[in-house]
Amino acid sequence: MKKIVIAIDGFSSTGKSTIAKQLAKTLNYIYVDTGAMYRAVTYFALENKCIGEDFFNTEELIDRLGEITITFKFNETAGFAEVYLNGKNIEADIRTLTVSKYVSPVATLSEVRRKLVEQQQLMGKDKGIVMDGRDIGTVVFPEAELKIFMTASAETRAKRRFKELLDRGHNLKYEDVLENVTTRDRIDSTREDSPLIKANDAIEIDNSNLTIEAQLERLTMLATALINE
Ligand code: C5P
Repeated sequence: MKKIVIAIDGFSSTGKSTIAKQLAKTLNYIYVDTGAMYRAVTYFALENKCIGEDFFNTEELIDRLGEITITFKFNETAGFAEVYLNGKNIEADIRTLTVSKYVSPVATLSEVRRKLVEQQQLMGKDKGIVMDGRDIGTVVFPEAELKIFMTASAETRAKRRFKELLDRGHNLKYEDVLENVTTRDRIDSTREDSPLIKANDAIEIDNSNLTIEAQLERLTMLATALINE
């Protein structure tokens, strides 16, 4: 059967990864969360004091990029691949508001992007992949057979992220989550290298009022039509 590449881009907390994971499972495809890779680099930068409250030593981080190896390993219980930094599972460590606060500035660095994009392209070279992020349909796989651009209002997205973080046991304020979501969107959309923009041939889906089931049904239909072409 023909294999395709499915690129899912969009703003923060649009539920891209939830739907991408389920779509990959339905199609028996590999799922790659590229946000987790940028978060892993940010976690490394924080751990190694390249970035902090009032400093960002970009040169040091760029110099040390060679020390970073990011891998994914499927967790049967969780039902998805978890991210590892130099062999250590950091899936939970990268989901904090601290990492979320610093990830967009880290993701503006072209050296970081080059390293991660190269790895992402390798992961998708045999197709049969669903990848979500900000530049998948525009930069990583401009030839992807199916491109989706997800949107939802900032409040809807902040509410989703707030609930997700509360469910994970984090103690935080809704206002801080909303501020993080809007700040990240601004940095991601205005950066010079690979800004978040909708690819011309992407299908836009505003999922503010769509259930996960409805989104999955729509995407599965779009994908299977292309696979069976
Ligand atoms: O998807 P997630 O919200 O985990 O992504 C975290 C951050 O990583 C984004 O806000 C963005 O700054 C960066 N990112 C990116 N390009 C991607 C995926 C994520 O710049 N392909």
